[in-house]
Amino acid sequence: MTSLALQRSELGKLADKILADERFTEAEALELFAHRDLHALGALASLARQRRVGNKASYLVNRYLNYSNYCILSCQFCSFARKKRDADGFELTVEQMLQKAREALALGVTELHIVGGLHPSLPFDYYLGFLRALKSLDPRLQLKCFTAIEVLHLAWLARKSVPDTLAELKAAGLDSLTGGGAEIFQPSVRSQIARGKESADEYIDVHRTWHRMGGRSTCTMLYGHVESPADRVDHLRRLRELQDETHGFTGFIPLPYHPDNNLIPVDHSPSGLDSLRTIAVSRLFLDNFDHITAYWVGLGTKLSQVALSFGADDLHGTILEEHIFHMAGAGSPQGRTEAELVKAIRDAGFTPVQRNTFYEAIRVWDDGRSITSPT
Ligand code: SF4
Repeated sequence: MTSLALQRSELGKLADKILADERFTEAEALELFAHRDLHALGALASLARQRRVGNKASYLVNRYLNYSNYCILSCQFCSFARKKRDADGFELTVEQMLQKAREALALGVTELHIVGGLHPSLPFDYYLGFLRALKSLDPRLQLKCFTAIEVLHLAWLARKSVPDTLAELKAAGLDSLTGGGAEIFQPSVRSQIARGKESADEYIDVHRTWHRMGGRSTCTMLYGHVESPADRVDHLRRLRELQDETHGFTGFIPLPYHPDNNLIPVDHSPSGLDSLRTIAVSRLFLDNFDHITAYWVGLGTKLSQVALSFGADDLHGTILEEHIFHMAGAGSPQGRTEAELVKAIRDAGFTPVQRNTFYEAIRVWDDGRSITSPT
């Protein structure tokens, strides 16, 4: 059954494609980015979302943990990286990481999300050491760590191939790769915002290698800076192709650009309407992805709630201590409590589901009072 908004819209014919499980073309995705009827686009994305995940919307009880913000690169869009001469650079000892992890475990986190810059001098053993130490705190604690460029940096440090490096990290406790660092794949845009970073092919290759080892990861897209809608569609196409090949992505996380304290000549974030449109097109085009995240840190909680009716089905996590977006000017809080995420999802009209790193349900909140375990 299609919605009234769709029946009255010229997008109605695309609803038939969704119902017939037909794939959207790049040309159609580009048309959707330009389409004036945002409500109908939302109805279309909701139809695709509903068919894949029903009325559920997930969240994660997690903690971010940045081991250091020192970085040998200077990506133009980055507000997080520091050099050793900078007063606000930091690096954590393994004991400091353990202390933060103990505090987080006491709050019920199921995942630590760990990334940092490409540190100029920490040895490979430091990374293996913190993985082993954190895992030994509680073997059930899921360690989601490292972007693709960090993996390449660690392989260089270890003087090993990427597969051998990933195998060693996995043996030390790595459960999942993060999706950060994808930015925009199109080469001329990539060189304008992240010169010196790994190429799109290298990003894809790291994730392909990890997936072939049986690993899972998420993926991202940084939008709303100097890229065009065609660059966004090209980016989504490459992710869809890898997903066809490996089925190793658990979810897609579109990240709205934030403009403070960096070198990109853009002075504002993408509008709320642009973000809703991007999430909706992502849901429609990425027909081989189960989960699309409305990242509340970048969007704000209220817009994330609306995004649940534009194709998103996940609000990401409690996070507790976010640095990367806040150093770029995000006005959202540093973290959210589980109760706040549950309320945000329920108030938006969806059934909250606590998930783990792999988007598997931990518990389903049936209504305001009762909690049931998934069957
Ligand atoms: S985006 Fe990552 S690799 Fe680039 S400068 Fe920032 S921390 Fe370093």
